[in-house]
Amino acid sequence: MNKSQLFLIMTGLVFILVAPKNSETKQTSNEKLEVGFSKGDATPKIGNKPVYIAGFGHNRKAEGVSDPIFIRAMVLKTEGKKYAFVSADLIGLFKEQVDDIRKELKDFENVMFSCTHSHEGPDTLGLWGQTPFQSGTDPDYLLYLQKIAVSTIREAAKNLTECDTEIAAISIPELLHDGRPPIVKMDELLSLKFNNTNTKTALGIVLFWHCHPETLGSGNKKLSSDFVGYTVKEIMKQTQAEAIVFTGAVGGLMTSLKVSIKNDQGQNLNDGTYEKTERYGQLLANASLNSLRKAKAINLTPIVVRKKEILLPVDNPIYRLAKQMGVFKREIIDWDLQLNKHASLNQREEKHPAAKTEVSVISLGELGIGCIPGEIYPELLLGKVATKPEKEADYQDAPTEYDWFQKWKMPYKTVIGLANDEIGYILPKKQWDEKPPFAYGSKSAPYGEINSLGPDTAFLIANAFKELLFE
Ligand SMILES: [Zn+2]
Repeated sequence: MNKSQLFLIMTGLVFILVAPKNSETKQTSNEKLEVGFSKGDATPKIGNKPVYIAGFGHNRKAEGVSDPIFIRAMVLKTEGKKYAFVSADLIGLFKEQVDDIRKELKDFENVMFSCTHSHEGPDTLGLWGQTPFQSGTDPDYLLYLQKIAVSTIREAAKNLTECDTEIAAISIPELLHDGRPPIVKMDELLSLKFNNTNTKTALGIVLFWHCHPETLGSGNKKLSSDFVGYTVKEIMKQTQAEAIVFTGAVGGLMTSLKVSIKNDQGQNLNDGTYEKTERYGQLLANASLNSLRKAKAINLTPIVVRKKEILLPVDNPIYRLAKQMGVFKREIIDWDLQLNKHASLNQREEKHPAAKTEVSVISLGELGIGCIPGEIYPELLLGKVATKPEKEADYQDAPTEYDWFQKWKMPYKTVIGLANDEIGYILPKKQWDEKPPFAYGSKSAPYGEINSLGPDTAFLIANAFKELLFE
């Protein structure tokens, strides 16, 4: 996602991995774990109504389909309870839409619905219509999408099979470009492998990777999952197992654009081409499969889910305008000052608009997953927010957000971004830089703030994780 349009708001889902901090991995006995996979084709029909492609400029009407828009689901079952994990080839979904899907799945202990943040799929947020003042979302398609999501999750639950599990991690910074200083990448690819307990054959491979799927660029006119579809295809080809990619910490900005990718003849492949997109997808698949050759057994039980709804102030004037224009279809409510009084927060008037979102943590035995409702900057997770802001930054006295991810002691941990919501970028207040002069010698405002709810978003999200994990 590049500068361009003001309204190109909301983006990104995140999975973060950090290698085990200590080797005292508990060898508790595994409760029986079952896994099931499924995918549903949610490609919009191209015909009577325009299908606007999300992620870059306005009025990018789809002229065809390059590869299907899939909703991929994994269901885990242990101790009689089912947990769904979904990754959709979409730019994002608002919490209201996720809650509608959950209403149909009340027999599940938890449904975690995330999007890959593909910049080549249909507009599901409303921000990429014909003009900035018209929604790009087709309400009929959203209903169709919900139906496919529900049936795909139910289908995955029908495929439940007893499994053993393995995990592997590999650092691949060469497959990421960081578009904004400071350069901090979440460059560890985490892979989980599920094997049939009885036959030992692979049932499915799950990847957690932290990159915007936008290799096809702003000129593409065909619906696509971008590199994600090619990654899945390659893994399925080599292993005959199902595959799912979850998108992680993509803020700040993690992209496949400008990543140098060569073909077999050593020639550079250009951004915006199918050749580069396919090759990138294959390289990611190969990195995962190579790392899994040295996989370690992991216990993914017991499963514990903790979640919390929070309010975030909507400070972004563009979001407020978009809401007024009916472009931005999410509920806006009054921020309750009583609940959110904190010395570090900016003061706001009564009745300040706010959005309700959800943060959650899922513990799968030895693996902890933080579910983040937007696109978080990796520095907030890796403990790499600079102690002192750059001298041009807007908030010189900004507090450092609570370092919940580094403090979370788990043998393995990761994050999923765009999980159960898409609130846009979540950036350190110390890096907030809307007013000139700009940091790092930049002549123009850095990209990110314009697609964020406001400068206190990261602080409030970090506090919510702190409460879920430590209080
Ligand atoms: Zn994005």
